[in-house]
Amino acid sequence: MQRQAIEIKGLQKLYAGAKGEPDKQALKGIDLSIPEGSIFGLLGPNGAGKSTMINILAGLVNKSSGQVTIWGFDQDINPRQSRAAIGVMPQEINMDPFFTPRALLDLQAGLYGVPKAERWTDEILELVGLSDKAESYARQLSGGMKRRLLLAKALVHRPKILVLDEPTAGVDIGLRNMLWKNVRRLNDEGMTIILTTHYLEEAQEMCDEIAIINHGEMIIRDRTENLLARMDAKTLVITPAGNAPDVTLPDGVNLTRRPNGQLAFDYRPKQVSANAILTAVHNAGIEVEDVGTTEPDLEDVFMSLTEE
Ligand code: ADP
Ligand code: MG
Repeated sequence: MQRQAIEIKGLQKLYAGAKGEPDKQALKGIDLSIPEGSIFGLLGPNGAGKSTMINILAGLVNKSSGQVTIWGFDQDINPRQSRAAIGVMPQEINMDPFFTPRALLDLQAGLYGVPKAERWTDEILELVGLSDKAESYARQLSGGMKRRLLLAKALVHRPKILVLDEPTAGVDIGLRNMLWKNVRRLNDEGMTIILTTHYLEEAQEMCDEIAIINHGEMIIRDRTENLLARMDAKTLVITPAGNAPDVTLPDGVNLTRRPNGQLAFDYRPKQVSANAILTAVHNAGIEVEDVGTTEPDLEDVFMSLTEE
């Protein structure tokens, strides 16, 4: 059986409301297992509860109820071991401006009880592209460099699981590429990766499996390709050679004539075959110059699931 890096059962979080404000139930009983070795995407609109969940995993926020097991260690029974198994790159930049990157990494290593001989500070600095800034004060670093440093900090204790909370929100392309290159590399070396992102294209490209949460509830969780297949919607696009007469369509197919002359047939692959459409096109006497299909992307899945 596949081993689970993380197991969450009945996880609830109630934030006490400020004076006069009602309490906020940020997580309403989440069950979720994340297999070892995966790149797992946690998606959801703003305020869905993603950061709350991640901060509970990291031991930064106390849950209201439920059970969290990290790398086989129950958070409540073995807090030290469960915390040692996970490294978190938080969404917010929070670091002491008067330390250098090297000093901050050493401090972090000390907090996690990593012996001097086992520290890999130089390698981490190299990995995130901060070697030449190792001795600069953190306050002199750009926003992008600070985010690199946050990733570095998450890695000092060589965690089994790396969690990235919106790592690419508002970052430049160079930083994004650095992040994904490292995420892939660390995953290849066996690290389980959990990330939240607003960029669905990115999740589609990076993640083996995806869970979508909304209003503190999990709406769906599946392998990325299954989520996409679930949409059961495709478009077959034909570029006719010359004018195209009317086509007698199979049931369930919808034809749109595009301004550029292309014919776009929307269909459900589970109900109608592409071949049936091509036959109809052929029977109408249309000569085909070019043909292609487009598939739904995660954006479509997300919209159809989070729209009330
Ligand atoms: P996401 O990361 O998906 O955007 P969050 O986990 O940050 O969502 O927030 C989930 C909900 O909990 C939101 O309604 C947010 O306003 C609320 N929330 C988050 N942190 C706190 C807090 N410290 N105190 C009170 N409410 C909070
Ligand atoms: Mg968040």
